[in-house]
Amino acid sequence: MTDSNYKKHYRIVKDVKTLPIKDYLKDYVDFNTTLSACRKCPAYNRNWACPEFDRNYSEFYNSYEKIDLIYVKLIFDDYIRQKKLTQNQWDDFLHETLFNEKDKLTEELKVIEKNKNGIYLSSGYCNICKECSKINGEECMFPNLRRNSVESIGGLVVKITREIFDTQLKWIDESGKVPEYLSILNAVMY
Ligand code: SF4
Repeated sequence: MTDSNYKKHYRIVKDVKTLPIKDYLKDYVDFNTTLSACRKCPAYNRNWACPEFDRNYSEFYNSYEKIDLIYVKLIFDDYIRQKKLTQNQWDDFLHETLFNEKDKLTEELKVIEKNKNGIYLSSGYCNICKECSKINGEECMFPNLRRNSVESIGGLVVKITREIFDTQLKWIDESGKVPEYLSILNAVMY
């Protein structure tokens, strides 16, 4: 399947919900839960945007009043869902669909962040550099560009998508089949 074909086989649904930070902190942030998940990730303590942290993120949240939660769902069509992808095809598929949408969303978030004088929260670890300098115990190369993900600082992504966006997350499994949809959750605090 060629590059352009993957892009033809999904559509986007986007939704934004706004909460007061104090409500978000009370109902949707639990550092202990996310930390135990982060500890199983290869990026744990190997990326400056991921735990362990040397700053207090409760104080970080409390310097903002509101949070916009921005949910994007990539819904795949029946044609692509019937295919069984090889590992190489998966790499192409993810770059042309999920990562493509994440990159587009990040550009939008940079504008929103600036307009609202806030800060955005990404999804996943920081990949600005080819290899994060934390691996070698060196300072972050671009601290002003680096952003935490929603989940890295306690955001309960499964609960947020279920309760706020009425959606169950779907994961890529070992069947080689494309799931019905994939999700991206980002946020802007201001
Ligand atoms: S900007 Fe570079 S050094 Fe800093 S967290 Fe991101 S990848 Fe790591």
